[in-house]
Amino acid sequence: MNHTAGTVRPPSHGTRQTAVPPTGAAVLRGPVRPDLIRDEVLAEIFRDSARARPDHPALIDAASGSDAASRTRLSYAEVDRRSDAIASGLAARGIGPGDVVGLWMARSPDLLVAQIGITKAGAAWLPFDAEAPSDRVAVCLNDCDAKALLASATLKDKAPDGACPALTPDEVAAGAAGPAPDLRAAGLTPEHPAYLIYTSGSTGVPKGIVISHRNICHFLRSANDLYGVTGDDVVFQGASVAFDLSMEEIWVPYLAGATLFVASPAQMGDAEALPDILNEAGITVLDTVPTLLGLMTKDVPALRLILLGGEALPEPLIARWATPSRKLFNTYGPTEATVVATAAEMKPGDPVTIGGPIANYTAYIADEALNLVGPGVQGELLIGGPGVAKGYLARPELTAEKFVANPYGGDGSDPVLYRSGDAVSLDSAGRIVFHGRIDDQVKVRGFRVELGEIESRIRVQPGIASAAVVLRQDDGVDRLVAFVVPERGSASQQENSRGAEFDRGRLRSALAETMPPYMIPAHFEVVESLPVLAASGKVDRKALRAAPLAVVETSGEQEEPRDETEAALLAAAQTVFGNQPIPFEADFFGDLGEQRVPAEIAEE
Ligand code: AMP
Repeated sequence: MNHTAGTVRPPSHGTRQTAVPPTGAAVLRGPVRPDLIRDEVLAEIFRDSARARPDHPALIDAASGSDAASRTRLSYAEVDRRSDAIASGLAARGIGPGDVVGLWMARSPDLLVAQIGITKAGAAWLPFDAEAPSDRVAVCLNDCDAKALLASATLKDKAPDGACPALTPDEVAAGAAGPAPDLRAAGLTPEHPAYLIYTSGSTGVPKGIVISHRNICHFLRSANDLYGVTGDDVVFQGASVAFDLSMEEIWVPYLAGATLFVASPAQMGDAEALPDILNEAGITVLDTVPTLLGLMTKDVPALRLILLGGEALPEPLIARWATPSRKLFNTYGPTEATVVATAAEMKPGDPVTIGGPIANYTAYIADEALNLVGPGVQGELLIGGPGVAKGYLARPELTAEKFVANPYGGDGSDPVLYRSGDAVSLDSAGRIVFHGRIDDQVKVRGFRVELGEIESRIRVQPGIASAAVVLRQDDGVDRLVAFVVPERGSASQQENSRGAEFDRGRLRSALAETMPPYMIPAHFEVVESLPVLAASGKVDRKALRAAPLAVVETSGEQEEPRDETEAALLAAAQTVFGNQPIPFEADFFGDLGEQRVPAEIAEE
């Protein structure tokens, strides 16, 4: 990809060639493209495509039929009309620019229409996974003072008490009075929030990242300048809307006027069958996490573009999936910098890197004191440009810590840099190499998890003195393991000293009330004390990652497969999730708690 690298003074802008100085500081600047920074909001991007190609299919409902002929297709005009009704209904309830509306529905065209409806009302949406526990939904809705929760009929029944009113999209649309509001007249500007995403917070409370229309609209254009999605593409929609990768997967196609094939929850639970589904549906673009691609055992010849991101890319996937007629990108970016900040087109034989900044983004590599480091030296990646969010909702201290005034000067296009917490270095060809985290954040199937959040939720449970959680690999399985120290004299400690079983089931159910399934440790190990580092007194996570486990735990019985398909599905899922019980209805992103690294990755 095109990006420039160079020393900070003078800033290298206005050029598009790759130029890496043999020495000097690690600064990279994406192609400078002021034409991609526009005065626009998301609703306008959708409306432009709806106006340009009203009859083109926008959404195909995979759940509505077993083949192309029987599936429901919604044209751009139809989606425009339905989302207008929701926008008008929200406006009739007094909801508009600056307000937040929760969105809690399973993946479906209805969810996507509701999302467009919220943005057409001028409000920001706050997405939740269908599997999110209602306590967590309540915490986030209250934290951002949401005005309403749009929920499917099923989830509406689970809506938390004491938060804002829960309504189905139909109920909202029934209250529509006239056309959708005129957003500019209502005062909406690109600076207003477009969506909020809550991610795991290290102190135990999820934190809300506020992304503005300016952030996201620019990103869509910058990203597609590189990817080249067109109106003829059929894009697989499989990501959870609670994961910001979905913004790229859903909204880049809207920008291009392409078609989204909206996978049903059952399809996402059946990775073995996915290639056949993709082939049959004529999917040309797949945007997902490497773990899911690693599960696909058959080729999908019509796929011409694969976008991978959210977690480190295992090299064998490149050899398997990048072909002369198919582009494969490794994309990297934290939610705080709006979906993707850097990308690399990967060809077989290439070393895995995260490339360089996409258009208008900048990247700096610095040591702890924020001094820039030279090529080959590891440092923290700082990100600048129009994607950098204003910060965390109502968390001024955390915002000040992570979003810093650009200490390197520059041309004024990146006044604030986001400290990613990722350790990277610049290779000899000027590409960024990802090395891992410099803190305790881990990734579970692309979802960002702060170990500190899980620990603080375990510690507040009765009878527990302290706890530490690590992501470790046992027997080829990547899983969260909690080391738990019972309170002295507590029933669990006495039980434990008598060799009796610690009540893992009770702890697990208590945690499931507040955390999504992917955050619940797969294994609880009872220990007398936690190992600490002599120098800092901090928990020694490295020791915990290697410590032998005393108890072999299973968290339930495996359902027997009912037919050959279920047997094949179970075998494929076990290559990723190990021998934990796997419900046949489980969703890849939402339901499963631990993950096996595909064999070829584990061998690395
Ligand atoms: P999220 O905010 O959920 O998108 O998570 C962002 C984090 O995911 C980054 O800070 C990285 O730690 C990790 N990440 C995202 N993309 C990649 C990638 N391509 N390679 C390695 N790590 C990645």
